[in-house]
This record gives sequence, C-alpha cells and structure tokens, in this order.
Amino acid sequence: MRPSISIEFEPVIGLEVHLQLNTKTKIFCGCANTFGREPNSHTCPVCLGLPGTLPVLNKKALEYAIKIALALHCEVNPLIKFDRKNYYYPDLPKGYQISQYDLPIAQHGLLVISSGGQAKKIRIRRGHLEEDAGKLIHDDSLGCSLVDYNRTGTPLMEIVTEPDLHSSQEAYDYLHILKLTLQYLDVSDCDMEKGSLRCDANVSLREKGSTTLGTKTELKNMNSFKAVKTALDFEIRRHQEVLQNGERVVQETRLWNETKGTTFSMRSKEEAHDYRYFPEPDLVPFVVDKKMIDAARQTLPEMPDVKLQRLIRDYQIPDYDAGILIQDPALADFFEQCAKANKGIESKKICNWIQGALLQELNARKKSVTTISLTVQNFTDLILKVENGALSNLAGKDVLKYIIDSGKSVDAVIQEKGLAQVSDDQTLDGIVENVIKENEKVVQQVKEGKASAIGFLVGQAMKKTEGKANPKKIGDLFRRRLLNE
Ligand SMILES: [Zn+2]
Repeated sequence: MRPSISIEFEPVIGLEVHLQLNTKTKIFCGCANTFGREPNSHTCPVCLGLPGTLPVLNKKALEYAIKIALALHCEVNPLIKFDRKNYYYPDLPKGYQISQYDLPIAQHGLLVISSGGQAKKIRIRRGHLEEDAGKLIHDDSLGCSLVDYNRTGTPLMEIVTEPDLHSSQEAYDYLHILKLTLQYLDVSDCDMEKGSLRCDANVSLREKGSTTLGTKTELKNMNSFKAVKTALDFEIRRHQEVLQNGERVVQETRLWNETKGTTFSMRSKEEAHDYRYFPEPDLVPFVVDKKMIDAARQTLPEMPDVKLQRLIRDYQIPDYDAGILIQDPALADFFEQCAKANKGIESKKICNWIQGALLQELNARKKSVTTISLTVQNFTDLILKVENGALSNLAGKDVLKYIIDSGKSVDAVIQEKGLAQVSDDQTLDGIVENVIKENEKVVQQVKEGKASAIGFLVGQAMKKTEGKANPKKIGDLFRRRLLNE
C-alpha cells in the first residue's frame, strides 16, 4: 500500500447549462415547440433530418440568445455561424447536431453570485445556440427503447462558465441566480424536471495555491440543483482519495446515480476533434447588427439584483423579505401593486401576508399568483380587515382560501361564511365567564401569579367562537376579571 500524502486540495468547477428556449416553434423548422404531447406528433422532414431538407434559423431563438447574452454581460459576436457536431446516437436522426463552434453568439460574460454572504464574479466563457436531440424512452415492459422526436430541434442555449467555482455550494448558488436571471428574461420555463434546464459539471482538484489545473471529470445526469451539489461533493471526495493515494484521476465522463448516491464511469471524455466539427453548409453565417442588439436591450427587464436593491430602498422592507419576493418576478410585481394601492398598510405587513398565507396557498395549489383569481383590491382589503380587527388572523387566512378559489370579494365571503370577528363586549364576556367556570385549576394558577396561563384560557375562548373572537379583547377581559387589571 502506498503511503497517503496529506495535501490540501482546492476544487475547481466549471458548469455547462443547457437551456431549452420557450419559442413557439423549433429552431430550424416550423414544428411546434411543446412538451408532453403524443410522441412523434410534432415532427417534419427538417427536424427528422430527411434528405433534401434545409434548416431555416428561427429569428425568435436568435433574439432570445441575444437577450441572454446581454443579461450575462457577454459580448455579442457581430458575426455568428453554425457548425455540425458529428456523432451517432438513435435520438439524433441526422447523425449530427447543428451547434456553434468557433463563432458563438456570446462570449466573455459574467454573473455575480452571492455565496456565503459574499458577492463573487463568475466569468461566462461562452453561450451558443444549438438544437436539442430527441428523447429515448427505455421501456422495460416492452423490452426495448422507444424514441420520441418531438424534442428534436428544440432551441437550446448552452451557457458555459470558466472554471471559477470552488465549492459545490458556489455551484449551487450560481445555478440559482442563473435560473432567476433566465426566468426574468422569460426565455425558458427553466424546469429541471421537464429537462428544460440541464446542467453538466466539470470538476478537478488542485493543490491549494497552485494555478495548474488537475485532470477533470465531467458529471452528467443530475436532475436538480441539489443533485448537482451532492454529485459534486461525492466527486470531490473521490478525486481527493485518488490523489491522496498517489494515484491519477482518469479524464472521463461520469454519470450521477441519484439512488446509489455515487458517480460511475460512462465513457472516456471526448475531445472537440472527436466530433469533427465543420461549418454547417446549409446555413450561411449571420450578421448580428447593432440594431438587433439595441432592440433586444430595450426588452430587457429589471434584473433580479437590481430589483432587490430597489425593493429594499423604495418600500423599506428587510433584505430577507425582498430576497423572497425577487424569487418570483410576478410575486414581486403583485407586492408592488399592493404597496402602491395606498390603503395605509405598512409594506412589511403586505410582505408578511405574501410570504406566509399567500405562498402557502400558492404552493398547496402548485400555482403562481398570476394563475389564480386574486386581485390586488381583494388581497389588500383582506389585510386591512385583519389589521383593523374586523377579522381575526385565523379567519383572515380562511377568507384568503375562499377568495382565491371563488374570486368573490372579501365582504361577500365574510358574510357567506359568517367569519366576521366577534368583538361586542357582551357576547365575549359571556364566553369568558363560561371558560372561567370550566377551568378552575388554570384560573387558580392565574390568580397565584402565573400570568402565562391566560394564554390557555384565551385559546379555549377562541375555540368556543371557532376562531372568530378578537383575541386581544378576550385577553383583556380575562385580565380584568381575574387580575383586576
Ligand atoms: Zn420540424
């Protein structure tokens, strides 16, 4: 056995993200770009690669690519061209993929990430357009594999970082902010489960302080950001063990096995020359003129980092709250509309209702604020009613459920469900009296000075009114009766 060497290693990670663009049609033909349809129902001679057909570049795909390039602070190449990447696989009917090799649409960009409370610039090496391949479905019951060409020709943007990431957490944070940026651009649904965002990772280890890169392995088959992080952790440990045993890391592509929690060798890593890239003869090079770039720039929305700062500044809400809002631009928009509705509700109160009750309802329904029938008017009415005591907090949450489902006004729901808060003294006093009679022991404790036991009595009174009582009033009544306050 070789003696193990104790060296401190630093991981060096680069990420490649493949993003499906949500254009109406595919990148080189007029077939619909849709997901989850009857297999092979959205194909044509072009995307099936039949002889004699010619690709035509989808202008929208190019526009989206320019938007992404600008959002990632890339240089947009004034001249771009497409190339053939040759390989054989059953999901690739042409035997080559139309991609971009030496003149990609985007180069030399950067994305600022926030990792461990620190801002860090991650350089983007390049971004290029290409077509997606079909999808193989391995069906054990049939004992064969099926191929669905609906996905063939879906526009993809590949976004490649420089090896600037140095931990699995940084990789995770990069993916998070990249996804948010892409969602803001509305160029993809970024759904990893559906495969519209896929991530491969390159990882190597080097001695801390060294500038020479070690031998890398490429990781594939991670289906969530969490899987990327866990797979990287596994692979970093594996490299470390290999190197500490004085052995060499083999350059190869490895697949992540989620169930086993390990990576395993898939194939030796291919080099660019293995693909015999050459210019796509059926597509002429494209000039990306300044007018196109300016037009794309005009459509860029406010980016997440800018929005974050503005929400904090304009509405005086805490960083944490603004951080939650920007996760979903539609939600941040809804918040701003509520805050601007000018009903005298504190912005922070609106945030609390959005982050608590509303997000809970949205998550339960797996919906977004734009796909439910909740208006700014209704939502702010509700918050106001709770704020001024007409509704208890609990009843308010109930009302929210009803208004989301029915689209009815807050007042209508309160009347229909009899949820108005009981605040009149006579009714409440009667309830308090009953609770005192029924809970002699606790009453005794309160009288002996255990003031916290009042909470229990309030709870009992709330139960009797099915949550409709004003808890503050109830508490006051108990204190008046038992402690002469
Ligand atoms: Zn087609």
